[in-house]
Amino acid sequence: DGIKAIKVDDAPLPKSKNLDVISEYEKAESKRNASFVVVGHVDAGKSTLMGRLLLDLGVVDQRTIQKYRKEAESIGKSSFALAWVLDQRSEERSRGVTIDIATNKFDTDSTSFTILDAPGHRDFIPNMIAGASQADFAILVVDATTGAFEAGLKGQTREHSLLLRSMGVSRIIVAINKLDTVAWSQERFDEISQQVSGFLSATGFQLKNVSYVPVSGLHGDNLVNKSADPAAAWYSGNTLIEELESSEPMARALTKPLRMTISEVFRSSQSPLTISGRIEAGSLQAGDAVLVQPSGEKAYIKSLELDAEPVDWAVAGQNVVIHLSNIDPIHVRVGDIICDPKQPIACIDTFTVKVLAFDILMPMQVDVHRGRLHAAGQITEIPALLDKVRGTVLKKKPKIVKPGSVARIVVRMGNKVPLEVGQRVVLRSGGDTVAAGLLE
Ligand code: GDP
Repeated sequence: DGIKAIKVDDAPLPKSKNLDVISEYEKAESKRNASFVVVGHVDAGKSTLMGRLLLDLGVVDQRTIQKYRKEAESIGKSSFALAWVLDQRSEERSRGVTIDIATNKFDTDSTSFTILDAPGHRDFIPNMIAGASQADFAILVVDATTGAFEAGLKGQTREHSLLLRSMGVSRIIVAINKLDTVAWSQERFDEISQQVSGFLSATGFQLKNVSYVPVSGLHGDNLVNKSADPAAAWYSGNTLIEELESSEPMARALTKPLRMTISEVFRSSQSPLTISGRIEAGSLQAGDAVLVQPSGEKAYIKSLELDAEPVDWAVAGQNVVIHLSNIDPIHVRVGDIICDPKQPIACIDTFTVKVLAFDILMPMQVDVHRGRLHAAGQITEIPALLDKVRGTVLKKKPKIVKPGSVARIVVRMGNKVPLEVGQRVVLRSGGDTVAAGLLE
């Protein structure tokens, strides 16, 4: 004994400029910020589409693409070059340690966009949950190739749509992709749009928030530039980028108490304890005291960064890097919540949640996910089966809940976790998403 393994940071408290952050934010001539996820069945063409979009917007230069094309050709997969734009960039980022939900940014005249990555493989659902819980809207990519759309609908297309809905994303742009493979058939486009409308409205999306764009990610048709193919002349609607620009981001909860889930904890040149994440509600500034939950320990904000630039303050909706002081790093973990010490989030071990069931629910073990936060728990009670639209009670204490039904359930976790009313959680079991919904 006698040796302290970890030294608590007991530096002098950082100074605050005591700024009125909300009015600073209103004064700052900031561009509109919007973030979106890209979802869809594996091989629907998500990576290719986003790579091509970035190329056509001039975010990636021709030289880089040429380099990828050469490398891709050398392994006999020339079509992979576009997809590598996203993959390569995320690899670079993971070495440079920024934010763990791999993000790609691009700007148009009106908007600064963030692409939240969401790979389509099964194992990536928890990643997608983290992404969707931060997204203003989604691009759902479906493959128009004969047979592929139908397979996708049975596969991840449906699960992803359910997840988007239960994570609170309401605006969807459906990119009906690979139309080059069906000679730009308007009939095929109409047929797929109708089927997608059918299942999106059954999932609870309002169709006025859903739009459809016929595209070819591989050839760059209707992404930034209108298709030059005469066979595509029947389409006179918006390009994908026009749809993105005309989508309204969700209202930011600026005046609510501070809430931010830590998505990464690391050492940086500025500080031995640096965290990153997206501010979900409220605002913060250098010098602020914050509370870390569930540890209940206080820390101070030494300094902060937005897009690798030092700044004095940040608000809800922004992804920030924060250098903390005056706290022992053992109290700070990925998935923890940074909050306002005067209005902290409580740590609870039991909660009631109104869920949409994706699978059969009954008293059973479940993993609770909220962004980066995971906890083991179990469904202990099912107080009611609810009407999907009105939320009224259909049946009290059902024994089970069938897939596609809405129910009120009680979940108990093995330990106390920071959670509060109004937050969205996803329940998984054996690697599958079984339900998602809103805490009551
Ligand atoms: P992801 O799994 O959804 O990210 O799909 P990828 O972007 O990796 O694409 C899967 C395959 O579809 C690749 O071989 C692509 O070259 C091909 N592909 C993607 N978009 C198109 C398209 O618009 N037209 C055609 N013909 N092929 C495409």
